[in-house]
Amino acid sequence: MDAEATPSRTISGHLRGVLGACRGAWRQAARLALDVALPTLCVACREPVDGEGVCASCWAKLSFIAKPYCPRLGIPFVYDPGPELLSMEAIANPPAYARARAAVRYDDVARTLVHALKYQDRTDLAPAMGRWMARAGRELIEEADALVPVPLHWRRGWSRRYNQSGALARVIAWQSGVKVASEALRRVRPTQQQIGLSRSQRASNVQGAFKVADHRRSEIAGRRVLLVDDVLTTGATVDACARALLRAKAASVDVLVFARVVDTHKAPI
Ligand SMILES: [Zn+2]
Repeated sequence: MDAEATPSRTISGHLRGVLGACRGAWRQAARLALDVALPTLCVACREPVDGEGVCASCWAKLSFIAKPYCPRLGIPFVYDPGPELLSMEAIANPPAYARARAAVRYDDVARTLVHALKYQDRTDLAPAMGRWMARAGRELIEEADALVPVPLHWRRGWSRRYNQSGALARVIAWQSGVKVASEALRRVRPTQQQIGLSRSQRASNVQGAFKVADHRRSEIAGRRVLLVDDVLTTGATVDACARALLRAKAASVDVLVFARVVDTHKAPI
């Protein structure tokens, strides 16, 4: 009985496989047709948009950061206190990195862009976001020898398939010609999401979480590194990354992000 049943099971299994493949091809063709038929929608307001995923009016709503700002942290000043004056934050909590710059303030539209890039596979946003970062970080990029994206732990990288900081770093590399050292810095232990944690909890959550792989130290030692991330909140993550890079003898570490949280109550001195 079993001997007779096996071939028919095999044939039906084979047929199922063929049908499955056909269905897969149809699904792919249907999706392609939809992509052609349906315009891209603006990630923030859902209006149709040509090309990149944010419409002109939503770009206009973004709050771009321009001088005057703290030369150390890149926090915008409400008035110009002079070229060398630092923000109170930079004096009270000097970071391990030398300078940080951000393209925009982290507000509602910026958050929508960051979340779409990070969680919704909207990689079409990376070119525009990366271009604005390249503009905001021009001085830092000119002095940089290597771009290092803040790494995901491999487990999170697998479930999300790609690293949003890596996608932004690749755009900046393409714009500037500075190479990306994407494998040099590793997240050696998984960390809890920083969302909802206090400043000190954030710092201890990422403490010791990053390391430069021994066989990659030559990509970092003696080099001026520009760390790339999507958002800077308290700076705990980039600070932990900067410490790891400096331990691996980086000549200097600067930070470039798409958006940073700006606490308007902490005005410049
Ligand atoms: Zn829009």
